[in-house]
Amino acid sequence: MSPVRELDATQVREVVEAALSVLREREPVHVSPSVAVNSFEADGLRAEIIAVGRKLWERKYVDGAGGNISARLNSEYVLCTPTMLSKGDLQPADICLTDLEGNILAGDRLRTSELLLHLEIYRFNPRARAVVHCHPPHATGFALTGSAPPNGYMSEFEFFIGPVAVAPYETPGTPGFAETIRPFVHDHNTILLANHGIVCWSDTVTHAEWLAEILETYCTMYLIAQQVGRPLLPISEPKMQELLAAKRRLGWPDARFSPFVEPPSPPANPTDLDHLVERVLARLDARDCLR
Ligand SMILES: [Zn+2]
Repeated sequence: MSPVRELDATQVREVVEAALSVLREREPVHVSPSVAVNSFEADGLRAEIIAVGRKLWERKYVDGAGGNISARLNSEYVLCTPTMLSKGDLQPADICLTDLEGNILAGDRLRTSELLLHLEIYRFNPRARAVVHCHPPHATGFALTGSAPPNGYMSEFEFFIGPVAVAPYETPGTPGFAETIRPFVHDHNTILLANHGIVCWSDTVTHAEWLAEILETYCTMYLIAQQVGRPLLPISEPKMQELLAAKRRLGWPDARFSPFVEPPSPPANPTDLDHLVERVLARLDARDCLR
């Protein structure tokens, strides 16, 4: 390695180390479960979960004790609905605090048995901050046939959701059931669960519930349109591309975009850092920056 190259390597190392120290500073500090569950943020999320539970029940998207809602409180904890309670009757004390393994840390009731599905979504898609699972009748009608409604007919559905994935059937509440969504969770914010219902993720609980509304409304409208007795009128390809370009600018997922690539995590040790410095130097070399 030439002296010039060594000098550049030192400089690059300093820059990378400075960037990493900034990233490390942003790592969250540990908060005890008792502090977390009594925090201002937890109060807000519980109120939002209760409001969304009532909306799901009033819209007839849940029946009996069916459906469940969760939200990430921070990097360590999740708030979720309990098992065996109507989503229309939730009270603040009913909401459970769990860790990312599903262990209950606070709350008067047992957590929903379908929390594993929610945790799988959080584990495989860091953009997911809230998850809503429910059984809206028309969307679940499609789930019973193992098929998704077709695309290309309704602008709002294309913009907010796009192609809907269909996860294969597994027994609800089992680890196998949770794993069924893995192949779809990066590129789909809304997934049909075969022979069961739907699950949606978003940045907030309210937005995840909106996705359930949009899917259910589209499924209803599509079935009505088929009874009109006239062929469905597709959105033209140029107009569809216009819509997808706007969606891409917002950074929303859509299976029609190129696959989402997880950004590399910061290097964990000096060996990784050396490797990263070498890669940066190689890239600079390729651009003739070191000559
Ligand atoms: Zn269910």
